[in-house]
Amino acid sequence: MVVERSLDNPLGLTYALEGDASVVVGDRVVVPLGRGNASAEGFVIAIEVTPSIDPSKIKPIKSKMDIGLPPALIELAQWLSRYYCCPLGMALSTMLPAAVKRGTGTVMRTEIERVAAADQPAEAVKLTPSAAGAWSAIEALPDSVFPLSAKRLAGKVEERTVGPINKLISAGLLREIQRKHIRAPWAEHAVEPPRGFTLTDDQARAVDGVVATLGSFQTHLLHGVTGSGKTEVYLRILDDVIARGEGAIVLVPEISLTPQTAGRFIGRFEEAGVAVLHSGLTASQRHQQWANVASGAARIVVGARSAIFAPFDGVNAAKLGLIIVDEEHDGAYKQSELPRHNGRDVAIKRGQIEGCPVVLGSATPSLESYHNAKAGRSTLHELPERVGGAKLPRVEVVDLAEELRGADANARLTLLTPRLQGEIGRALDSGGQVMLLLNRRGYASYVSCADQRCGWVLGCDHCDTTMVYHRAKEIPVGGLLRCHHCLAEQRIPEVCPMCSTRLTLFGAGTQRLEEELPRLFPRLVLGQTMLRLDSDTMRKARDYHEALTRFASGEVRLLLGTQMIAKGLDFPGVTLVGVVNADTAINMPDFRAAERTFQLVSQVAGRAGRVKVADGQRGARVLVQTFNPEEPAIVHAARHDYQGFALQELGHRANAGLPPIGRMARIVVRDEQLPKANQHAGEIVACIRAHASAGLQMKGPMPCPISRVAGKHRVGIELLAPTAGPIQAALAVLRDAKLVKSDAVTAVDVDPIDLL
Ligand code: ADP
Ligand code: ZN
Ligand code: ZN
Repeated sequence: MVVERSLDNPLGLTYALEGDASVVVGDRVVVPLGRGNASAEGFVIAIEVTPSIDPSKIKPIKSKMDIGLPPALIELAQWLSRYYCCPLGMALSTMLPAAVKRGTGTVMRTEIERVAAADQPAEAVKLTPSAAGAWSAIEALPDSVFPLSAKRLAGKVEERTVGPINKLISAGLLREIQRKHIRAPWAEHAVEPPRGFTLTDDQARAVDGVVATLGSFQTHLLHGVTGSGKTEVYLRILDDVIARGEGAIVLVPEISLTPQTAGRFIGRFEEAGVAVLHSGLTASQRHQQWANVASGAARIVVGARSAIFAPFDGVNAAKLGLIIVDEEHDGAYKQSELPRHNGRDVAIKRGQIEGCPVVLGSATPSLESYHNAKAGRSTLHELPERVGGAKLPRVEVVDLAEELRGADANARLTLLTPRLQGEIGRALDSGGQVMLLLNRRGYASYVSCADQRCGWVLGCDHCDTTMVYHRAKEIPVGGLLRCHHCLAEQRIPEVCPMCSTRLTLFGAGTQRLEEELPRLFPRLVLGQTMLRLDSDTMRKARDYHEALTRFASGEVRLLLGTQMIAKGLDFPGVTLVGVVNADTAINMPDFRAAERTFQLVSQVAGRAGRVKVADGQRGARVLVQTFNPEEPAIVHAARHDYQGFALQELGHRANAGLPPIGRMARIVVRDEQLPKANQHAGEIVACIRAHASAGLQMKGPMPCPISRVAGKHRVGIELLAPTAGPIQAALAVLRDAKLVKSDAVTAVDVDPIDLL
């Protein structure tokens, strides 16, 4: 069976093998397609000895291609297609990067190898003394160095020119061969040298617990507070995996945002070979890294979401022996475009197919993973303390309503309360470093009429959202309004178009904060002693890397930014973390709002106080500004009480039948005309009703919280059930009835994490 590559319409077809041709599942083949027998490429997904259709109608395969996928990935693609309701062709195409298919960066190189003794000229050739000397040195080299370029060979035997090598070639002792090579210039990587810590008892227990399960499928949850040494636990488990001759995949949320972590793996496992796979690679780099895994040259893959499809096969490549998902709670594992999937859940499925353990690690595990551990589906390992005697920082919650009561109008406009200002001053005075989190880009999140009776708010013409105000260098006066959903831009109007009153800005973002800080602290100079980290300033991985290097060196005293600064960074100099506004996520119309708030506050708090402080000295602090000081997510985060939060929140979810206690899928119907969207959604609902299995609950059709994006109305339907079964059954019915159409019309999201 071959699946044609066409994304929207993958065909399952049967072809014959002729003569002594042979294929295995996962091979890519060229086949004749349709009346004209045009060549099409596809994957072998199953082999039948007795064909199920009339043999005379079966056309033969034209040819086999060089590169395919391991059978385990074909199985994984079939699962992905079924579970996430996406075409099989698309799942397969995601697994084999385009750069690999095209062979980007491949060049032919001339290299030298030794001619076997039996094939050397019968009569010993007379060699010049210099060639004879080179030959005896070359004869002494181990086999493993060949083939290599003439220049490198000359270098190995300490010849200054390739002259003697050329003589040996004409003498028939060496020969030139052409070899494929992938040319991929590399940017430098942060490499941390190996270190030999003595593991803490908790770390050692976690390592032993996972190592005991190598060789079979088992999910582990490593719940370790920030700074508890989770990465060291991964590294020690990997030692065992490598010693077994196996390979491993280490997933990190977004590798360009975790250069420190990646560097540790690269430094530690140079010998076994580390490949990196992430979206920041050039096509030739991606091809090269993929090929290194496929050939067995690299046994450890560190990468973002897509690295879960690394081509380990246990034949040429290593056998996959372990999968690690670091910061497993991170939203970056969820892919919002087709094929929509969660890399963490795909990792668990791949572990099951390959028969290897899967380790999920986090200081703030997703409630999905915590629930699985509590239900006994995975093994929980806890690291409750920081390593090296460091303590979790003291977290103070600052009630913004209280602080602003009685304050004058000017004070009301500042983002930093006197309390937070005081702490920033103290931290800077004592030589500490500061991180400030404000999870909102731009200058102001919306613009509205200053006259409350009018209440006009500037919205996007194409979406049901407000436009975000950005200061732009190109526009000295005023600035730019940008829609974060469709990216439309416009200039800011001078006055309210309804009543001509002046306009005011609401919902301050990182650009505002960046403006306010130097006014309060003249020693903070943007770009010198202070940096802003968000997706507007950090366009490339290199920008981010450079910013972090400057912060690590101590030259930069303060980092401000969005959640980008909350991710896994380990800087010993940070003595103050300030959360400027903890409420950015709380009011989202999404049942995960509390969970996200807890994660964000805990994670950013975890950047402070990474080193032990001497007795009597002031420890690191975290200040959290909020209008909701009683909010359980904030109260628990301030107490570093993950379990308290998780149990309470799981209780709420259970009462409401929401994930992770129940399962969910979401269908969004999009159309420029609202009645059409409603009609289509109505048909979907009717179809599900007609076939619904017991236990399936349906909500909708209803307008999505953002009811229009880029000119299209959005109508949502939520499917809920205690288990995945009824939801999968309903989606299968819809697919058969052709009611879930191409992605532009209907989007199906199984286990959604974002309900906007
Ligand atoms: P986490 O990922 O849990 O936040 P890290 O793995 O970043 O923690 O570890 C925090 C710091 O402690 C790192 O600098 C790491 O090198 C160091 N570390 C880890 N394990 C030990 C240990 N057993 N003894 C001393 N230092 C350790
Ligand atoms: Zn828009
Ligand atoms: Zn107005």
